[in-house]
Amino acid sequence: MSEKTPLLSGQGGYAPVPGAGGYQPQGGGYAPQGPYPPQGAYPPQGGYQGGPPPAGGYPGAGQPPPSGGYPGAPPGGSYQGGGPPPAGAYPPQGGAPPPAGSVPKFSGEMPNEDVMDDPNSQEAQPTAPPMEKMDNIGGYSNVGFNANVLPPPSYEDVTKEQPPTDRQAIQNVPTITEQDARESLLNFVSQHCCYGKGAAEDLKFLDLKSTSAFHYTLETYGEGRSTCWAYEPYTGQMIDGPQNGTAPGPWDIQASPPSLFQDYNQSFEVPHTASVKPCHDCFASGYVRCHRCFGRGRVRCSSCHGSGHTTRYHDGEHRRERCHWCHGDGRRECYTCHGHGMVVCKTCAGHRNLKCYIKLTVTWKNHVNDHIVERTPLPDHLIRNVSGQIAFEESNQRVWPINHFHEREINEASVRLIQNHQFPTERILMQRHKVRIVPVTQCLYKWKNTESDFYVYGFEHHCYAPNYPQTCCCGCSIL
Ligand SMILES: [Zn+2]
Ligand SMILES: [Zn+2]
Ligand SMILES: [Zn+2]
Repeated sequence: MSEKTPLLSGQGGYAPVPGAGGYQPQGGGYAPQGPYPPQGAYPPQGGYQGGPPPAGGYPGAGQPPPSGGYPGAPPGGSYQGGGPPPAGAYPPQGGAPPPAGSVPKFSGEMPNEDVMDDPNSQEAQPTAPPMEKMDNIGGYSNVGFNANVLPPPSYEDVTKEQPPTDRQAIQNVPTITEQDARESLLNFVSQHCCYGKGAAEDLKFLDLKSTSAFHYTLETYGEGRSTCWAYEPYTGQMIDGPQNGTAPGPWDIQASPPSLFQDYNQSFEVPHTASVKPCHDCFASGYVRCHRCFGRGRVRCSSCHGSGHTTRYHDGEHRRERCHWCHGDGRRECYTCHGHGMVVCKTCAGHRNLKCYIKLTVTWKNHVNDHIVERTPLPDHLIRNVSGQIAFEESNQRVWPINHFHEREINEASVRLIQNHQFPTERILMQRHKVRIVPVTQCLYKWKNTESDFYVYGFEHHCYAPNYPQTCCCGCSIL
């Protein structure tokens, strides 16, 4: 069995943290300098033969493992002491997990008696290494395991003193005909199964009043950055540590979104921040105490509650029978650890060591706000989802408020929204704003003895007719 063979095939192995390790210098970005790592030279080979790392052998580990093993560590995988490893020989064995079939027996503290079997007992979840074990990386001393948002360094603000002189002219919108209005209403009626279409076909138009709704939209596209410590099982992947150079500042790493005005996020490993640490959860053994049997390897039978027999009612009398589940033992092997008392460590996925590094997360967010001016009884929000004429559109790193639109309320909304679009924790990459003119026609009509109205809006000629005279109850009867 090769040392690289995954520990337990059913375990699914280790999946890399998404985005981690994906740092790709883009023109002038940071890349490891010089020949590091020389192919195959790191970790040094031959420095470690698969035995336990000696006491004190972990750089930065702080506490050397006590000789004779950690409390709770299995004897087979415990530290035996011995000479220090050759300098730089850690990480030792390419992150190979312990070979399958060599699951150690648990020998640490455990209950004096077998515990009642609980198939739903909670497995320990991966935990972050203790902060004091993390390296001190220049410029990243405040980084923890939770995201730490970093405001951008000051940058040249391009807000202009004056509005642009050659702004796009405002355009007008087409009006609708009586035929358009009637078709829109018939379409509306057809979408309501019970509505009668007679009224829509026969009504007489009294007047079509064309108006316009105005829809102003401001978008600000910003970039935010945060850092945190991240860890993943060490499986022999490349380690770009501080020995390769100074870590670039979080805002010095180049990253650009795939396209503007779309939300994205992307994670990068900050160059020169990685190191290998022994797993703190399993004391670098790859295994932890089984959560189901607490290390004993056996549990009390849940069917007979450990008595070995059950009582069954048969032929009018209670009879004592040997328990079928444990064959009268009252105990049986733990199904989770198969009697070893230990299970694979979740934190390192059995690989014994962790790769720790600082992760940079870049978040691109499009902030959108809008304002609608609509002066008929048509609900304003309906304007948002229909098309209209784009009367004005402008895009720049910073836009100047609209001040030349014939509807004052739009100009005022533009000033207010632009003022409100301040995002101190983000670098603003681009802004754009636009005004759409959406046609709204109030259609006044007479049908039988009723006078009422409906509204046709948007280039799609959507219809809003809350007072349609031939709805379900009367519509069905008047056919
Ligand atoms: Zn167990
Ligand atoms: Zn039993
Ligand atoms: Zn572990």
